[in-house]
Amino acid sequence: MQADILIRGAEVIDGTGRTAFHADIEVIGAEITRVGQMPQAQARHIIDATGLTVAPGFIDVHTHDDWAVIEDPALACKITQGVTTVVVGNCGISAAPFAPRENLPAPFGIVPRVDTLSAPTVTDYARRVTEAAPAVNVRLLVGHSTLRANAMKDLDCPATPSDIETMARQLDHALTEGAAGFSTGLDYPAASAAPMDEVVTLARVLARHENALYTTHIRDEADHVIEAVREALSTAKTADVPLLLSHHKTCGTRNFGKSKTTLAMIDTARTDQDVAMDVYPYTASSSALLPHFAEAAPEVLIIWSTPHPDMAGRMLDDIAAEWGLTRNEAIAKLTPAAAVYFDMDDADLDRILQHPATMIGSDGIPGTPKPHPRLWGTFPRVLGHYVRDRALLTLPQAIHKMTGLSAARFGLKTRGIIKPGMHADLTLFDPATIIDRADFDHSEEVSHGITHVLVGGQITLQNGVQTGHRNGRFLHRA
Ligand code: ZN
Repeated sequence: MQADILIRGAEVIDGTGRTAFHADIEVIGAEITRVGQMPQAQARHIIDATGLTVAPGFIDVHTHDDWAVIEDPALACKITQGVTTVVVGNCGISAAPFAPRENLPAPFGIVPRVDTLSAPTVTDYARRVTEAAPAVNVRLLVGHSTLRANAMKDLDCPATPSDIETMARQLDHALTEGAAGFSTGLDYPAASAAPMDEVVTLARVLARHENALYTTHIRDEADHVIEAVREALSTAKTADVPLLLSHHKTCGTRNFGKSKTTLAMIDTARTDQDVAMDVYPYTASSSALLPHFAEAAPEVLIIWSTPHPDMAGRMLDDIAAEWGLTRNEAIAKLTPAAAVYFDMDDADLDRILQHPATMIGSDGIPGTPKPHPRLWGTFPRVLGHYVRDRALLTLPQAIHKMTGLSAARFGLKTRGIIKPGMHADLTLFDPATIIDRADFDHSEEVSHGITHVLVGGQITLQNGVQTGHRNGRFLHRA
C-alpha cells in the first residue's frame, strides 16, 4: 500500500524525553504507520526534512481558545507555533456547559464573545466545534465560575448546599459527555468567595471519572502564593484527584524567590500525590484589570478598555497622572479593561520552567486587540530563547514538556509521542533558527522557524504557509 506522506531525513524527537535519532516517518490516513530507515519507501507526498527536527504536534495545555476554535477556526496563532491540540476552559471559565447572562464579574469579560458562542452542554459544544472544523484539536475543561454562573444568582458569596448539588450534577454530566476535567479561578471575583469546601465537594466528582483532572488558577499568586499552593494541594489530596497548577508564578517584587518554597512544597506533595504545573515563558502576566493584580505589579500596560478605548497601549501610571487620579481611581474609570502586568522575576520563571513536572501552556487570550505576545510566541520562545540561546533545557526535555508529558497528563493516549499507531499530529522546525517574534509592541507577529505542521495526517502548514486544511477534532475524554 502506498503511503500518503513520507517525512524523509529528519532528526526525530519523539516526545518521550529521549535523545534525537535519525529516521523517516510514514503516514497513512490519520496515523503514523512506520518510523525508521526506509530508503525504498514511496508516498503520494514526500517532505524533505533534511536539517529539520520533527516532533509530535505541540499541546497547548493552557488556553482560552473556547470561542476562538469556533469563531477563528484557522487559528494562525496556534498553527504557526506548531500547536496541534489546545486545552480550553481554563481558570474557571468554559464555553460549556454555560447559560450566559448579563453583568457577570471578571474574568468573564476577558474572553470575547462569551455571550454568543457558549453551549448548554458539552455535546452541544462538541457539535459546534465539529461544524466549525478548527485547524487544531480541542480538549475541554469545565469551569467552576461557569458552573457558579449557571447555578447562583450572586457570585460574591459561598455556594449553598443546593447550589453545590446543582453544580456537581452539571459537572458529572459534562464529564460523562467527554469533558477532560474541572478548572477553578479562585483569584477572580467570580469565584474568590468560594471556600475550599465548595471546591473539594466539586473536585470529588472527578474521582468518579477515569483520567479526569483538577486544574487551578490558585487563590493568590502574589503575597499569599504559598498559602494558595497549600490550599490547592490539600484540595486535590482531600478529593483524591490529580492536580495541575495553572501558569505557576510568584508575582510582585516582594515575592520574588518564593518559587523555591512552592516548588519544594510540590516536590514533597509529589511523593504521595499526582501534581503537575504549566507555565508560559514570560515575566509579564495578562488578565482583567483588577486592583489586586495591579498592586503586585510595578508596571501595568493597558491593552483595552471599554469606556476609554483610546487608552489602549498606554501605561496605567501615565494615565493616572494625566487624569490626576490615584492608581485605583484610574482602574475604576478604565474598567472593564484588560492589562499586561510586569510582575515576575526571571529566576523564578527559569526555576519553574526547569522543573520536571512543568508543561508549557500559553495562557494566550485570542480575539482582543494587543494581546500579550504569549498568544503568538510561547512555543518558539521556549525552543529558541530558553533551549538554544540559554541552554536552560535540552531540546528533548523542552519537547517532552510540550508533547509526551502533556498528553499523559490529559489522558491523550494516541497523541504526544511519535511511534507507529499514534495520530499523525506532527511539527517540523529548524532548531537553528526557531524563535518568537511577537513582543509587547508588536504582539501578533508570526514566529520564525516552524516549517510544517500535520494535524491528523493533513498538512496544515507547509513551508511556513497555512494550506487551508482544518482537520482538528473535539477530543472526548475516554
Ligand atoms: Zn488564570
